[in-house]
Amino acid sequence: MSSLKYLPGRVIWRMPFPFRLANAINPSYTLRCVLYHDISDTTSTFTNGLGVTVSRKSFEDDIRFLAKYYTPVTLDEALHPPAIPKRNYRPVLLTFDDAYASVATEAAPLCQKYGVPAVFFVNSRFVGNQDLALDNLICHVANTRGMDAVNIAASEAEKSPVNLNSVNDACGEFLPRVWGAQRETFRQALVDATGQSIKELAEQAGLYMSLHQLRSLASFNFEIGNHTYSHVYGRNLAGNDFAEEIGRNKSTLESMTGKPIRTFSAPYGAAIDLPGRLVEYLRQLKHESAFLVESSVNNPGTDPMRLLRVSVQVSSNADLFSELEIMPRLRSIRDALFRRPASASPAATQARVAAD
Ligand SMILES: [Zn+2]
Repeated sequence: MSSLKYLPGRVIWRMPFPFRLANAINPSYTLRCVLYHDISDTTSTFTNGLGVTVSRKSFEDDIRFLAKYYTPVTLDEALHPPAIPKRNYRPVLLTFDDAYASVATEAAPLCQKYGVPAVFFVNSRFVGNQDLALDNLICHVANTRGMDAVNIAASEAEKSPVNLNSVNDACGEFLPRVWGAQRETFRQALVDATGQSIKELAEQAGLYMSLHQLRSLASFNFEIGNHTYSHVYGRNLAGNDFAEEIGRNKSTLESMTGKPIRTFSAPYGAAIDLPGRLVEYLRQLKHESAFLVESSVNNPGTDPMRLLRVSVQVSSNADLFSELEIMPRLRSIRDALFRRPASASPAATQARVAAD
């Protein structure tokens, strides 16, 4: 199935003038936004099964492709495009979620080598590896103790039997259901299942950027963005949660980097996780843009608080062409035919929800 979805793009890529042909499908497509997480040739028990890891070679192939066929832009350039763009202007904005250390050690040097600006969305709670995001903790318990251990922890939190089949089910179906004390019970039960403390696990994993790495990125003129303090579902935020998860992360990142934080990406990336009340709060705190994970087109009328990104895991230039040029356009046509606004599409909640 995965190769079939790329078929139209692969065929068009082999034809003369593939970008012109793609443009004919939907000429209003302007800003392409690309999302990555972990750039590494190996996975660990903390990432294996999450679907977040792209090899260094694949990433470099992608970056070379973007630098050759597109105009890689900064966040400012993405938000303020030229009034009269030059011919064949194809702006692309590169983004990374979750602040994996590999992004600082592997991806950032390649971005600099090829002159590609980037935005890094960070959960400040995990910078410095003293704590673990729940997704990575679930992944580690599943890989080392089995899904039974995850189900025992989930059942304890929900006080009724829970039967999850995979890490993706646990992150994409169960996590959005639990909040507050339930979420904390789940988290503690998972930690207990490992027989280690969360600090020991986080230090052992070494998954995320150090404070020094984060500061280095900021000083290299990459943009740092808000991804909530603890990597939580935006649909669950209410009352004081906004200050705890959004305001706290913004002020912590600003004190860490010395730079204003003015952009946000919604963890898990579904439209439901960027509700109007959250957008309003983001605006109050002077966020000027916000990002989802949804493979459709951004056009000149797209709300900068609901920009769409394509999460990329491909193994060839033809497939990257398909992901960036063909599939978003085909989805925009499908959404228009069914009279469904792109931002209301459930596409982002489909497979790989845990990856975002
Ligand atoms: Zn994330």
